[in-house]
Amino acid sequence: MYDKELYSLISQENDRQKRAINLIASENIAPYEVRRALSSVLTNKYAEGYPGKRYYAGCEVIDRIEQVAIDRAKQLFGAEHANVQPHSGTQANMAVYQAMLKPGDTILAMHMLSGGHLSHGSPANFSGNLYRFIFYGVDQATERLDYEAIEKLALEHRPKLIVAGASAYSRAIDFERFAHIAQKVSAYLMADMAHIVGLVAVGLHQNPTPYADFVTSSTQKTLRGPRGGFILCKKQHACAIDKAVMPGIQGGPCMNVIAAKAIAFELAKSPAFKKYQERVIANAQAMADELSKRGYRIVSGGTDNHLFLVDLRPQGLTGKQAEEILQKAGILVNRNAIPGDQLSPLVASGIRIGTPAVTSRGMTEKQARRIARRIAQILTNARV
Ligand SMILES: *Cc1c(COP(=O)(O)O)cnc(C)c1O
Repeated sequence: MYDKELYSLISQENDRQKRAINLIASENIAPYEVRRALSSVLTNKYAEGYPGKRYYAGCEVIDRIEQVAIDRAKQLFGAEHANVQPHSGTQANMAVYQAMLKPGDTILAMHMLSGGHLSHGSPANFSGNLYRFIFYGVDQATERLDYEAIEKLALEHRPKLIVAGASAYSRAIDFERFAHIAQKVSAYLMADMAHIVGLVAVGLHQNPTPYADFVTSSTQKTLRGPRGGFILCKKQHACAIDKAVMPGIQGGPCMNVIAAKAIAFELAKSPAFKKYQERVIANAQAMADELSKRGYRIVSGGTDNHLFLVDLRPQGLTGKQAEEILQKAGILVNRNAIPGDQLSPLVASGIRIGTPAVTSRGMTEKQARRIARRIAQILTNARV
């Protein structure tokens, strides 16, 4: 341990992760196999380009590793083409925009305050600066996607690209319906499955791959892989996507991360992974049910996936307050805007609760209910 300062910090972070009840919906616990590949000698290799077409010598093993990752991604999701080089989910989205659009082109996407992602046109993000975004949200009454309203917006604004996918939406997304809307206005469809990718991998959520021109994803969330991203697309767009990733927006790929992605894709095929995802959903539903029984309003009334939102307005609490109070009790959630939120996203009227990480640690439904009761108790006692 030659760097005492840093190894001590890593060790402290390890302890923190062990102690916390982590309900942050975008986080997970990468298994040892994944972390082992991440810390391997693969990090030493420069491999700009693609298998068989590199700008550097000595890529013969690297080529095989990347090809394995590509083949496994294609097989897992039934895709015609895969690019496993994006450094993150945001980079994956950036590459699709870069491949298909010119600055100023119109994109129809979900608003961040309704559950969309930063890279779906936030003014603080490159996407919002480079492209003209039109936003859809959720229906006020049902708090679910209203496909007719989305279609109306598409017909009115004629976007070049429609983005389907969210960071804070607890209901199943009908990608097939999105594809019909895109067809109607001759737009490309990009499905961003960053959050639900693990559920998709095991068939617990509709797979967007047959319907969307492009599918983007992160690998560190429900897929339980390394921090990274990937893109799936139809063969006809393969060349444009590969060019957009490198040299378009990235230099050399992180080969250690690509190897770890390949391992995560393989692990995702196992029966144990399917069981895990079933438990992720069952645990989220159990927690939402328990909170709702104790008078907490769950946005849209429940969840179909690994997360849900709690509206804390009836309790007179803000999301920020709840996040801070729960953190003191060792329970980690994040403040989150709820549909129609009047507060700034930095304060927010709700919290987002997700079960991927705690389920990786072995949480059952019984424990999920217990944690939910504890959350209710803590928040109820905190009411001002
Ligand atoms: C998390 C997320 C991403 C990717 O985020 P990165 O942190 O860049 O990996 C992209 N889209 C959605 C909808 C997300 O939730």
